[in-house]
Amino acid sequence: MINKQLKLILVSTPIGYLGSGKGGGVELTIVSLIKGLISLGHKIILIAPKGSKLPFESELLEIRLIDGIDQPSWQHQKKTDPVLIPSNSVLPKLWEDVINIANKSDAVINFSYDWLPLWLTKTQPIKIFHLISMGAESKIMKETISEISQFFPFQLAFHTKRQSKDYDLKTDPIIVGNGFDIENYLFNENENGPLGWAGRIAPEKGLEDAVRVAKSLGEKLLVWGLIEDKEYASKIENTFTEEIVEWKGFLPTNKFQEQLGRCRALINTPKWNEAYGNVIVEAMACGVPVIAYDLGGPGELIEDGFNGFLVKPNNIEGLIKATKSISEIKRRNCRNWFEKKATNKVFAKRVENWLHKGLNKKISTDFQN
Ligand code: UDP
Repeated sequence: MINKQLKLILVSTPIGYLGSGKGGGVELTIVSLIKGLISLGHKIILIAPKGSKLPFESELLEIRLIDGIDQPSWQHQKKTDPVLIPSNSVLPKLWEDVINIANKSDAVINFSYDWLPLWLTKTQPIKIFHLISMGAESKIMKETISEISQFFPFQLAFHTKRQSKDYDLKTDPIIVGNGFDIENYLFNENENGPLGWAGRIAPEKGLEDAVRVAKSLGEKLLVWGLIEDKEYASKIENTFTEEIVEWKGFLPTNKFQEQLGRCRALINTPKWNEAYGNVIVEAMACGVPVIAYDLGGPGELIEDGFNGFLVKPNNIEGLIKATKSISEIKRRNCRNWFEKKATNKVFAKRVENWLHKGLNKKISTDFQN
């Protein structure tokens, strides 16, 4: 049976325009999913902050750009901080636009990890679906997501089970993983390259632990990513006086994958409940095995001994031991894992199933009582 074409509004992250890198992994998730949903024949309207660009065009895609000030990201606020909406914020403007055009569509998918779109779920006739992109980094967000899960359980989805466990959910969570455009990643057979690390340069990403591994092995560590926290980046430079870190900058996907693919291993050292870990799968798509802390998403993406190694969080000795054994992992396994589990087509199918499930459920009105 061919599924009916859906008319979908996708609302981008309000933390930066698409392509800025400020939105972290969510940016790539949105771009990959749009391509996947279009390949399944769905019609997309993307509403995104001004400056956003997509690397492809399609008759099935319309982009509406909205001007305004970036939202502060929750991961750099205190757990008990209140909701902040800056003057001239882009977040309410994105959602004003959604409300204005909603009657032309079947559903809205929200990618911002913020309070306003969750709250709007209770007030709008159109069904708003939320792909939750982080673990519970704030009290108000945790409470709001838990409340939505009670009344609209089929309108929430998570990237991994471990991420979803951060929340008090009333029913079994819907897990959709993530997906990446297979055409963008080339398999690289070279087993003898350098060690790599990639991610936003910010404390929750734990770059310092990977640098320690490189130092102990007397090697350089190649580092890709947006410097989000300048103070943290200089602290790393000053702590490791020898030239161990080679900063490669924040590159577009085609260049990033080409350089990443030459590595013999990617080291991933999160200090928080990583919701997914895009860079892990991007590395595997190029054939690069990953050594990661067994924390959050990485623990569900890495099959220990097959496509990489999992190490107890904060265990530098464990990382070093795993790095020394990396030649035991077949690079082909990593690519195969990616092709089976995390292409954008597979991901779009999972999202399509989620939407159908949610669209077929009656909206609960119990929360109004
Ligand atoms: N990235 C990139 N160019 C780079 C380094 C990283 O485009 O030079 C992107 C990468 O593709 C990934 C994102 O940065 O999508 C990091 O996402 P991840 O899920 O690993 O972590 P987050 O920043 O969301 O916490």
